[in-house]
Amino acid sequence: MTEPFTVAIDGPAAAGKGTIGRAIAARFGFAHLDTGLLYRVVGAATLRGVPAIQAAQAVKREALEDPALRTPEVAQAASQVAVIPEVRAALLDFQRAFARRAGGAVLDGRDIGTVICPQAEVQLFVTASAEVRAERRHKELADKNIDTNLQDVLADVKARDARDTDRAAAPLKPSTKAHILDTSDIPVDAAIAKAIELVQHAFQFD
Ligand code: C5P
Repeated sequence: MTEPFTVAIDGPAAAGKGTIGRAIAARFGFAHLDTGLLYRVVGAATLRGVPAIQAAQAVKREALEDPALRTPEVAQAASQVAVIPEVRAALLDFQRAFARRAGGAVLDGRDIGTVICPQAEVQLFVTASAEVRAERRHKELADKNIDTNLQDVLADVKARDARDTDRAAAPLKPSTKAHILDTSDIPVDAAIAKAIELVQHAFQFD
């Protein structure tokens, strides 16, 4: 496939966007970008004392691979820098180019369908209750030997939800074209199957 074909996946923290995004990318041979990592790289830099806008202008692709970006402290720092319009602007071109690359792309984040790629052929808004998301994230962190307790993870999820939803610059919300996928009460395999069905359907009518 040489034409651009974009799958935009938005939603709050730990809703399953990454798992669904990776599954779609593997199934259709698309490239995948977890855009939260861009903000995490900037957030991590601010924890080392680098000014946020300067850090955003200097983000390198290789930096996204760093496993240290997965900690709750970096997640909070990421959501703090994500409210700054100049930080968002500095990360825009890279994400837009990635979205329209030849061969298809899946991007997950908070503003992919609303700001980065409103023309995305498939748009999903993946969500779940804060409690379910906190339990999933707590298990993921425990699997990576990152020591946390469930109450702290829930508080972190709620704080980020509030900051991401209430900010003026590119707030978290479903685009008008988005299919809402609530994963609170369905197993991850069922959510993936539904997402794949939506992509297949869009392929047929594109
Ligand atoms: O997705 P992840 O939890 O890694 O994102 C970390 C933070 O980065 C989010 O809480 C959000 O504030 C910010 N973010 C954003 N826009 C995106 C992706 C992430 O504002 N497209």
